[in-house]
Amino acid sequence: MSKKPICYSTKAYATTGATAPLGATVIERRSPTPSDVQIQIQYCGVCHSDLHYARNEWHFTQYPAVPGHEIVGRVTAVGSGVKKFKVGDTVGVGCLVDSCRTCPDCRSGLEQFCANMVMTYGSTDQHLGTPTLGGYSQSIVVTEDFVLRMPANLNLAAAAPLLCAGITTYSPLRHWKVGPGQKVGIVGLGGLGHMGVKFAKAFGAQVVLFTTSPGKVADGKRLGAHEVVVSTNEAQMAAQAGTFDFILDAVSATHDINAYLNLLKHDGNLVLVGAPEKPLPVAAFPLIFRRRSFSGSLIGGLPETQEMLDFCGQHNITCDIELIRMDEINTAYERMLKSDVKYRFVIDMASLG
Ligand code: NAP
Ligand code: ZN
Ligand code: ZN
Repeated sequence: MSKKPICYSTKAYATTGATAPLGATVIERRSPTPSDVQIQIQYCGVCHSDLHYARNEWHFTQYPAVPGHEIVGRVTAVGSGVKKFKVGDTVGVGCLVDSCRTCPDCRSGLEQFCANMVMTYGSTDQHLGTPTLGGYSQSIVVTEDFVLRMPANLNLAAAAPLLCAGITTYSPLRHWKVGPGQKVGIVGLGGLGHMGVKFAKAFGAQVVLFTTSPGKVADGKRLGAHEVVVSTNEAQMAAQAGTFDFILDAVSATHDINAYLNLLKHDGNLVLVGAPEKPLPVAAFPLIFRRRSFSGSLIGGLPETQEMLDFCGQHNITCDIELIRMDEINTAYERMLKSDVKYRFVIDMASLG
């Protein structure tokens, strides 16, 4: 960083503190360098991680904070060295905007494990030296290697949440080779969970959804679950004991993880993608009996994210969304906290005009 790059201003929505609402502001973005792509953001999904981050629930928020990492839009400028994209292309940006490119993880396309990965918000911008700012804004500049191609046949607003909710559920289901002949549980029908149901079904597994919301049973089946269990019903839970090969837990809040470990067969695996603020206590017996595993998974690397987008294009898979205006974001957060979202809010960025 010998000299500060040239910047331009763009409208955004930010919060200045853990208890402050989000509101309109203007932020600086770097003008595209030779390897950069400048994107006019058309839609941005609202991930529960945005809420955790805005409210400093993970204790690393840098204010003012601009959340948003399910970004889709149109290319408005490219640097002189950009090869993969041109002005007018429809593209996406997920949770990562850069990484070191040289470590073994980066070399194998697992940029999400790079010690120096740069997240779309909450990291340090390598060019400006300031905190990275996310997609609740009209424009963003991202190095071309972290920009993804959006399948032309998908509705763009409904495809936006694939950039986080999609890859975060696709990646562990692929990594642990979920498929035909397996009984798979998805816990929590929110943004991630509803994509977990769609992917597990598409991969040929027998899918059981676990929800705390009795009102979501019919939707769970419509989205692809063969069976829906209301997890507050002890008899329904007991009937599932010891029968699962794999369970994906996409719950945003504290809950009893042991209840789900008990549902696994021997050698079964419970994978946590939810990132609640507080630790989830794990009891010894549900793990040591039947040699069960408890694992975690973080988004996915760039090659796998493109693979997931292409898979969705081929199979016509998108998210079930509720389109909102930018100034509805604070209400959307409150509704998300009440599990009242079907099944992802997506911001129409034209409303930030
Ligand atoms: P979301 O849309 O708010 O969905 C969360 C769902 O969890 C709710 O709809 C609800 O489903 C269930 N739930 C909420 N409170 C609960 C409680 N107290 N007990 C039991 N179930 C509860 O959130 P999301 O955007 O899908 O994100 C889910 C979590 O994954 C968040 O913590 C987020 O930060 C994290 N995340 C992780 C990664 C990663 O890379 N690992 C990536 C993205 C997000 P029901 O109504 O069906 O019970
Ligand atoms: Zn996310
Ligand atoms: Zn690296």
